[in-house]
Amino acid sequence: MPHIAQLPPELVNQIAAGEVVERPASVVKELVENAIDAGARRIDVRIEEAGSRLIEVRDDGSGMSEEDLPLAFAAHATSKIRSLDELESVATMGFRGEALASIASIAQVSVSSRRERDAHGWILSPNESLECRPTAHPVGTTVTVADLFYNTPARRKFLRTERTEFSQIDQLMRRFALAHPGIGFSLTHQGRLVFELSPLPRAQLAEQMPARIEALLGAEFLNRARRIDSAASGLSLSGWVADPAYARSTTDQQLFFVNGRIVRDRLIGFAIRRAYADVLHHARQPAYVLALDLEPRAVDVNVHPTKAEVRFRDARAVQDFIFREIHRALAQGAVAGAQQESG
Ligand code: ADP
Ligand code: MG
Repeated sequence: MPHIAQLPPELVNQIAAGEVVERPASVVKELVENAIDAGARRIDVRIEEAGSRLIEVRDDGSGMSEEDLPLAFAAHATSKIRSLDELESVATMGFRGEALASIASIAQVSVSSRRERDAHGWILSPNESLECRPTAHPVGTTVTVADLFYNTPARRKFLRTERTEFSQIDQLMRRFALAHPGIGFSLTHQGRLVFELSPLPRAQLAEQMPARIEALLGAEFLNRARRIDSAASGLSLSGWVADPAYARSTTDQQLFFVNGRIVRDRLIGFAIRRAYADVLHHARQPAYVLALDLEPRAVDVNVHPTKAEVRFRDARAVQDFIFREIHRALAQGAVAGAQQESG
């Protein structure tokens, strides 16, 4: 009798969920990323009880066919990559093909979806059956996730207060809205609209982005922020850095995106701090919203299950570039201020 046994798929998915789904905000992140990958122009998120009772994400993206709907819930099933080569140059948010399978193993899930070319939509509730039923739905997809962790009470116990879990979702949605100005976003909690932003067409981005920044980070940030928009040797950095006088006691306004992905990178954090070093009290935190864009092959996004971390092929060049550009932006401001005082 062998002691080793292959685990049943349901348990495999629950184990994967342990990596990907830490809390309601993790579910929101996976579903919104799927909507972005589907080319959505609008993403509406509705939650009840800070997501532990209900998370609904509705998009107007590509939608899914009747054949694809059940596959979306199979483990390691994805439409986004087909080979190692495609993994190494992946430009979509997702590629692991694990999120929906994981989420359906720890919550009651239902998806309705319709493609442009289909006469009607299809609904699938994978916890009940893998048969799709016809349904009325506009082009796009609605995923509902009810009773998160209903079958894993130990996980459910680790949820923090409703206020904390809501704040995680609220912050995440604001980050998405800053990273993807071309998309309209709304967040509704307990039937109350928390925020709503219409999509900004590319041609009006420069003109209208400040209003989105103000709506999400406040007028004070915007008034103190300096614009960065530069590109060199395959790297481009754009966004706003607040001048040192605006520095905060927390890191809540440190937003960094790599190719549209919300990323926390210790080394980038250091590079930014270093750029502020001579102008910032050590206990204060700089505030910024910055988007770094580079060739997908220059960055490995397959480092962490939630993709919160990335690895740069040439980390040194990235850090130096970020340091230089922020340092320059801050120094230019200082010069302008000094001139004002002496003149
Ligand atoms: P991944 O995003 O890594 O591919 P997921 O489990 O998140 O894995 O999703 C599985 C597949 O389901 C995706 O590859 C995509 O084809 C499809 N899918 C998921 N969400 C949506 C959506 N909102 N719109 C269209 N297709 C979707
Ligand atoms: Mg996904």
